[in-house]
This record gives sequence, C-alpha cells and structure tokens, in this order.
Amino acid sequence: MIDLHTHTTCSDGTDTPFALVKKALSAGITTLAITDHDSTAGWSDSISAIQPHFELVLGAEISCLTSDGISVHMLGLLFDGENNEMQQMLADSRDTRIPRMRKMVELLKADGIDIDLEDVYQAAPEGATVGRPHLADALVTKGIVGSRDEAFLELLNNESKYYVTHAAPTPVEAIRAIRKAGGVAVIAHPFASRRGQIITSSTFSDLVEAGLNGIEVHHRDQNAAEQENLIAIAHELKLVITGSSDYHGTGKLNGLAENTTHPAQWELLESQADARRVVRK
Ligand code: AMP
Ligand code: FE
Ligand code: FE
Ligand code: ZN
Repeated sequence: MIDLHTHTTCSDGTDTPFALVKKALSAGITTLAITDHDSTAGWSDSISAIQPHFELVLGAEISCLTSDGISVHMLGLLFDGENNEMQQMLADSRDTRIPRMRKMVELLKADGIDIDLEDVYQAAPEGATVGRPHLADALVTKGIVGSRDEAFLELLNNESKYYVTHAAPTPVEAIRAIRKAGGVAVIAHPFASRRGQIITSSTFSDLVEAGLNGIEVHHRDQNAAEQENLIAIAHELKLVITGSSDYHGTGKLNGLAENTTHPAQWELLESQADARRVVRK
C-alpha cells in the first residue's frame, strides 16, 4: 500500500513523525510520504523509525496562491532537502503565517470571540508550522466550539469573514522550485470544492509547462465526478495519478491509507525525480 500525503506534529497532524511511521508499518503500508505544511522539520525523526522493506518518501505540502487569490496545495516529493531556494521558500511561508494568524485572531476578537495569539501557540506543538487547525484547537480548548470541524465550518473556512491568506508562492513558482531541487510535484486535491474556490481545468496546462508531474485524484475531499474529471485531465496531459489519505492523526477523520496510489503510478512518479531519493533501511 502506497500513501503519498500525510501530516505530523511538525504541522497540523497529531502523531510525531516517528509515531506516524510506526503506525504506517503496522497498517501494512509499504511506501509512505511525509508531507507537512511548508516544512521538512519531520524528516529526520521519520527516518529513525523505518524498518527494512519499507520506503519512506520525504516531502512537503506547499501552500500556494494563484494570481487570482485561489488557494492551491502543492505536494513536493523527493526533493533535495539541502536545496537553498526550496528551504527559503518554505521558511518565507512559515514566517508569513505568524502575522496572518495575528490578523485572524484580531478579527475574531473584534467580534467578541475570546481568543489570543498566545492560545494558538499553546495549541501548536513546538516547532510546528502554525495553521488554522491550531487556531481551531485553541477555540475548542476555550469552549468556543466543540471540534476542529465545527471551528472550520463556522469560523475558519476559506469563505469566512475571519479567513486571512498568507503570502505564498504561486503554484508555478512552487513547481519550478520543487523541480529545480530535483523532486516531483503533485497538485494536492485540486478539485476539493468544499474547501473553497478551485482552479479551472484550463490552469493545468500552465502547471504542466512549469513541470507538474502528477495530480492527486483519489482523496476524500473530491467526489466521484470530481475524480473522473481529474482522471480525464491526467490522461490528456500525461500526468501521474495519485491517491492518498492526507492523514492528520486525530486532527481529522482521514484514516491512514484510506486512499492509495497504484504501484505502477508510483513507479512512474519516482522515476521522474532527478535521483533515487527514497529512504530505505
Ligand atoms: P492553513 O494552512 O493554516 O490555511 O490551514 C489549512 C489546513 O486546515 C488544511 O491543510 C487542513 O489540514 C485543515 N483543514 C481544512 N479544513 C478543515 C476542516 N473542515 N476540518 C479540519 N481541518 C481542516
Ligand atoms: Fe493540514
Ligand atoms: Fe492540503
Ligand atoms: Zn495535506
């Protein structure tokens, strides 16, 4: 079983990278990618947990904004973690998440919701990329909402008046950086319409020109029709098709390997990186 998109305590997941790899091993996963938001901080801890006959794919999920302001998530897999441009791009994104979170907290406070930036930091593990899920957890701790899900539904979703974006690379810039660092780029849940505005199918050709390698098709936030449309686009543009859980531990309902990638598709994707960078014991 191949699961190419998961999160840990280095962003908004609830398992440490070490614990996540152990869970993947017991679940019978043979290839696992760890893809924290805008961070590679979990890589070394995840490596220390691997066993023989298991492939670890190091990556990150990069938050992007199109020039029209649409939020896009780009999975970068198998890139060189020492690449300066890549690390700078990730660091810039993490940095702008701080003033962004401050703004969201101020907007909530201005509406009488009793929350402070300090509460959000309390909810985020040490060194984690700070995101809305931590704000959601802080709102739960304060008894303002009952769950992360409710927090997103009522206050934090992309259409909410409290939602603020942070500065981010465009999808084209992210793809170029990933490819320059030797990795492969897979656009994450592109048609997950319930998350907010989505890109149009015509955008894909620009992304392919920039070096896009694959499309995440099988993902719980995309219904059957959305997945069918993506499969057609992938075939037309000769892109790899992936499926994955987007596991976040107890932070979301997504179960490990609830969606997976076909071995032949993974083989094709891996062959497009500039070096064999899968980690094995
Ligand atoms: P941010 O990167 O701070 O904009 O937060 C986006 C993250 O919030 C996504 O990557 C998801 O992990 C999470 N998220 C989005 N919608 C929901 C939801 N309805 N329930 C829980 N987590 C969500
Ligand atoms: Fe997330
Ligand atoms: Fe995502
Ligand atoms: Zn994700």
